[in-house]
Amino acid sequence: MQTTFIKPGDIKIDDSFWSPIMERVRTQVIPYQWEALNDRISGAEPSYAIRNFKLAAELTHPELDYAVPRTIGFGGMVFQDSDLAKWLEAAAYSLVWHPDASLEQKLDETIDILANAQQADGYMDTYYIINGIDKRWTNLKDHHELYCFGHFTEAAVAYFEATGKRKFLDIMIKYADCIDAHIGAEEGKIHGYPGHEIAEMALVRLYSVTKNEKHLKLAAYFINQRGQKGPTGKVFFQEEDERNANGFYWKDSYFQYQYYQAGIPVRDQKVAEGHAVRAVYLYSGMADVGRETNDKSLIEACERLFTDITRRQMYITAAIGQQPYGESFSFDYDLPNDTVYGETCASIGLAFFARRMAEIEPNAKYTNVIERALYNGIISGMSLDGTKFFYVNPLETLPESSKKDRRMHQVKIERQSWFPCACCPPNLARIIASLGTYVHSYNEETILTHLYISGEAAFKLAGKEMKVRVKTGIPWEGSVKITFEGEADFNYGFRIPDWCGNYTVQLNGSPCTPNVQNAYAFINRAWKTGDTIEIAFDMPASFMQANPKVRDDIGKAALQRGPIVYCLEEADNGKGLAKLAVNTVADAQVTWEQGLLCGVDTITVQGKEIKDWVAGEDDAESLYRPVKPSEYADKTLKFIPYYAWANRGPGEMAVWVHMC
Ligand SMILES: [Zn+2]
Repeated sequence: MQTTFIKPGDIKIDDSFWSPIMERVRTQVIPYQWEALNDRISGAEPSYAIRNFKLAAELTHPELDYAVPRTIGFGGMVFQDSDLAKWLEAAAYSLVWHPDASLEQKLDETIDILANAQQADGYMDTYYIINGIDKRWTNLKDHHELYCFGHFTEAAVAYFEATGKRKFLDIMIKYADCIDAHIGAEEGKIHGYPGHEIAEMALVRLYSVTKNEKHLKLAAYFINQRGQKGPTGKVFFQEEDERNANGFYWKDSYFQYQYYQAGIPVRDQKVAEGHAVRAVYLYSGMADVGRETNDKSLIEACERLFTDITRRQMYITAAIGQQPYGESFSFDYDLPNDTVYGETCASIGLAFFARRMAEIEPNAKYTNVIERALYNGIISGMSLDGTKFFYVNPLETLPESSKKDRRMHQVKIERQSWFPCACCPPNLARIIASLGTYVHSYNEETILTHLYISGEAAFKLAGKEMKVRVKTGIPWEGSVKITFEGEADFNYGFRIPDWCGNYTVQLNGSPCTPNVQNAYAFINRAWKTGDTIEIAFDMPASFMQANPKVRDDIGKAALQRGPIVYCLEEADNGKGLAKLAVNTVADAQVTWEQGLLCGVDTITVQGKEIKDWVAGEDDAESLYRPVKPSEYADKTLKFIPYYAWANRGPGEMAVWVHMC
């Protein structure tokens, strides 16, 4: 059963957990990033993103004068344009739930600059417009012009859906036509594809509004061509490297071209490999193309890859990408907590992938992952005041080792205000600003609720209009009330979360036993105004363990309650978290602390702390000794939500704790 997620304009969120986070994005992140994109943050590396576009516009139209100093040419990373694109997308979504004429004007003015930078044939990548357009398309592997195109396309569709204005959309249609004229299966075209994926899913999104088969065909070409060997027996990127006489950076690694998921055809890929963000963006595009073209083999490949990630390569926080080397997946069951990479963007990309799989088939195995990512590995990327960000999201930190241990150089123990490669903050902004679109999906005879977030949504079903209102205490308590307005026959389904063992359902005040399929509870009836479903999900504090194949978590437990994964922090438990052990059968005390970390439930549990060797004894200062029974002191352990860690100064943190 295929469904489509709700459009941003059809849902309003009014939720005690998420609305403040969305407001933080709107009032802190979006304005701050605008300043950053305009190089107006003192002490921060300039972004150059808008300056590059102004310079490109001046070069394209010499009559224009944006007063850009010419001494520096293109500034920033080759993919700097994408930072602006992500900002435009986030700002576009925010306009839907918070109209703002002055912000909309900034977008329109920026879109005018993009239009002026665009070449007559539609091309619009500032790196090549500034550095020599004759070189464009010569390095699809590393120069990211198709990546930037993808991000701008996502932004253009978002802005069109938010405002109905076509200018940005038309710019991107023209750019898509330009790409289509140069890259594709036909003779004389380049038989290539993006080095950093995203254009695939962006083109399908473009197709969803243009209904132009050309856009879908180009997305399918990128997917199907990826990893295919040409007549020379080499994949496209190898041919390109040889043409450019480039040294191949991953030549001596086990990745080879699988760093780009481009070493073998996508349908032959059985495990998630290479750069994690690229991988989940590719799989998202594969799922989109698979759904739109009804390509079973592609969807099967997506299912295999989704299973590999979520059953063998995903942290309990939904962080993915275990190693800093290549910001990549490593191997099945390898999930080190301290040397982890876990880029914020990768968890965001995993949510994109899971969302697309859920559109193909409603199954909580997909939407549980969206929830896990949103409440843990995604929002952990942002400070509680919305001004600082994590690129890497560890599950265990020791400040000294982050400073001195090369294997942990990527792990920061405090969030940073900006990065030279600032991919994560604007990516966070765009997913949180579009959060409403993850809550429900529907088709002509079905409405599904995937996430429990309070708000109101409007649907058109087979000509009938329905409103669905959700009121919930999740993530802090498990009650959900759903009320309906309108009259229509349809099948209403809601997710039974993976964190809930027992639940009760009442329909209009009477107990009700829904028909459960793939952990979705369905009630099929003629719905009318005033109908109400009340659900009580049990939300106990649960100690979780990892499969014993995960060697780093053996003998350890992690605490989860509802969708929230918890952690220990030095601020509450002192130094030496590794010495602590938790009693997983002791009662867990849940306490609402309004004044702590913007309001959180903390959990205290009885545990123990291993004592130092007895002072005065001969071996007290030894490094090793023959085994004696260890001594423990009782200690109450206090857990806080993982997403809120590192908001009280630097210190130790641990998600996985020894069991006693
Ligand atoms: Zn990132």
